[in-house]
Amino acid sequence: MPAPPAPTTGTWDVIVVGAGPAGATAARVAAEHGCRTLLLERAAIPRYKTCGGGLIGAALAALPPGLPLNVYDTAGRFTFSLNGRSRRTLVSRSPTIAMVYRSELDAALTEAAAAAGAEVWDSIALTTLQQQDGTVTVKTGRGDTLLARAVVGADGSASRVARYVGVRCAQVDLALEAEVPVDARTAERWRGRLLMEWGPLPGSFGWVFPKGDVCTAGVVAARGNPTALRAYKDDFLERQGLLVPRPLRDTGHLTRCRHPDSPLARGRVLVAGDAAALVDHWSREGISYALRSGGFAGHAAARLVTSADEAQARLATERYGQQVDNVLGAEMRASGTLMNLFAHHPGLVHTALTRLPPAWRRLDAYIAGRTSVAGIMTPPLARAAALASRPTTGRGKA
Ligand SMILES: Cc1cc2nc3c(=O)[nH]c(=O)nc-3n(C[C@H](O)[C@H](O)[C@H](O)COP(=O)(O)OP(=O)(O)OC[C@H]3O[C@@H](n4cnc5c(N)ncnc54)[C@H](O)[C@@H]3O)c2cc1C
Repeated sequence: MPAPPAPTTGTWDVIVVGAGPAGATAARVAAEHGCRTLLLERAAIPRYKTCGGGLIGAALAALPPGLPLNVYDTAGRFTFSLNGRSRRTLVSRSPTIAMVYRSELDAALTEAAAAAGAEVWDSIALTTLQQQDGTVTVKTGRGDTLLARAVVGADGSASRVARYVGVRCAQVDLALEAEVPVDARTAERWRGRLLMEWGPLPGSFGWVFPKGDVCTAGVVAARGNPTALRAYKDDFLERQGLLVPRPLRDTGHLTRCRHPDSPLARGRVLVAGDAAALVDHWSREGISYALRSGGFAGHAAARLVTSADEAQARLATERYGQQVDNVLGAEMRASGTLMNLFAHHPGLVHTALTRLPPAWRRLDAYIAGRTSVAGIMTPPLARAAALASRPTTGRGKA
């Protein structure tokens, strides 16, 4: 990455905050539209991000063509278990989830943004923003005062830009994860196979994702009971033979799912990815949401820049909201329904998945990107799920 230049005067077309999948994509797309674009990242790139690094079909399809990426494994077998019992391994129609390291994925996406013409400043954080008369003023921790015609906030689940926009959440979870080095025998045992275990806390699960000589393993549940979650994580890792004194990483991170009425923009400031709380309620998959919303936000920011007046600018942000809602909102509504069913009846979901071949075929098709979560939730299943459960809103609410 180029060394950050001295504080600059002049107005940027677009400033994107955060160089994760959402921000790097938004910056690339805005730059491809010819916008003078700045991508601002708090950390030094490449930076670590707590994440399983599993790319489902929808995420793979949203990557820019030809992106250079190391894939450490591709899962074609899925072991499901219910709190350590009723283990069953199912085989995918075609190997689907690609296992990557986020530091490498996000750096590659940032390189693609730079290659499209975006300027990248890393190790510089946004501290505040405000807007007046069609211009957004961004201040940084280094003391820069930057002006832009549009800003995309893609600064993750603890986003400052989301607070400015007023993003509201229906579900907030805490995920704890470790990167564990494994010997050759253990690596062989996990090669090509991932584990999903439905856990003892409501709506919780644990996972093991294989990456050759490392396994990424963790647990997730509604925020609010960290002691129980830590106990579940230790128990889960121990049962998988992955509880070691010195993992390579041992971290935690929030995942947030937006309230359906939550705003996606305020004036000329848009939010995307985790900042907009666009994450699957059930699986907590977020990379495909980040890539897709980042792409939509990059287009919308370019439209904001070329808006002749404030009425046109409003139209551009409204179209962004509609696009996110039509595509990603529909998927989140379906995943919220599935999550309701799962949180109340994990055994039912486990039995259906592992004993009813059509249920597994649907999930497999979703993982591979042949359908969406909305495609899994056929009307009879959605009705049954709604009957069997209460609404999600309220679980670990922000
Ligand atoms: C434990 C765990 C496991 C997960 N596993 C998976 C998985 O296997 N597959 C999947 O699809 N999803 C997974 N997710 C979800 C996924 O990690 C997120 O949805 C995804 O990272 C969202 O990308 P993003 O670009 O929106 O945000 P991020 O990747 O969080 O990027 C935000 C960026 O903004 C930067 N930033 C923050 N504040 C500022 C600031 N003030 N100024 C400048 N920069 C700033 C940060 O440094 C960061 O680089 C997982 C999440 C967790 C917590």
